[in-house]
Amino acid sequence: MRFLVLGAAAGGGLPQWNCGCRNCRDARLGRIASATQSSLAVTLDGQNWAVLNTSPDIRVQLQNCPSMHPQSLRHSPLRAVLLTNGDIDHIAGLLSLREQSPFTLFATAGLLDVLEANPVFNALPAAVGRHPVRLSEGFELLPGLQATVFAVPGKVPLFMEDRQVQTDLMGDQTVGVRLSDGAKTAYYIPGCSGVSAELLEILADADHIFFDGTLWHDQEMIQSGTGTKTGQRMGHISISGPEGSIAGLRSVDAAKTFIHINNTNPVWQPGSAQHAEVLAAGWTIAADGMEIAL
Ligand SMILES: [Zn+2]
Ligand SMILES: [Zn+2]
Repeated sequence: MRFLVLGAAAGGGLPQWNCGCRNCRDARLGRIASATQSSLAVTLDGQNWAVLNTSPDIRVQLQNCPSMHPQSLRHSPLRAVLLTNGDIDHIAGLLSLREQSPFTLFATAGLLDVLEANPVFNALPAAVGRHPVRLSEGFELLPGLQATVFAVPGKVPLFMEDRQVQTDLMGDQTVGVRLSDGAKTAYYIPGCSGVSAELLEILADADHIFFDGTLWHDQEMIQSGTGTKTGQRMGHISISGPEGSIAGLRSVDAAKTFIHINNTNPVWQPGSAQHAEVLAAGWTIAADGMEIAL
């Protein structure tokens, strides 16, 4: 099983078009690497690929990845797309995949309903089969690659929020993914508002975990002056602190990678204390183009 990080950043990317924070300025100046919006590709044979979440950057991500290039006049090695929630940074890329190439779109019924309720997604051709998947029921994402989705605490997409928003909602609107080729097992959880005992139980067989690294600190957006919401309010656990993901997942005996990292997160700075703390805790920090083979 081979993974390719198509995009390591959270929604907005690094740099984000309208952001002048230190990280975004440094990325524009080439002082730190830029990163596109969150997406992870997986393959068993290098010929057939599945993509987990399709960000608005999917076009340039596929262009930057030679193994995803067409092998004939109209062709793509992309066989499947799996969605983990309905956020714009995870679904908008579908609109760039509308040029009559067949692939299977896997998502829970709740997420397929979100697409159904937005007529712009009718632009996807009939050649794109929409395949509903149920929580905790395995399915074949690619030939030989078993996948299972499971509920993780989260919230509905921003564009569907009511005045009252539950941020620890358990259901089929926010899911994690278990992937196994029979020998190794990996998990992809780019959005999660907390680590529960139930989640720790699920992760017990993990060889590798790709996990929500959106924010370093729950107050990060407020303190940096870039937003008014806490991480919890956005449906994301923070990396640091006693309630954070490093502490929460310490007992999980697997390789761990932070992915879906917001442009405000100090871990983007290679010289920062936060970057050092993440590495010291045994985690890696995803970057665009990073390959991980299990
Ligand atoms: Zn996102
Ligand atoms: Zn920024």
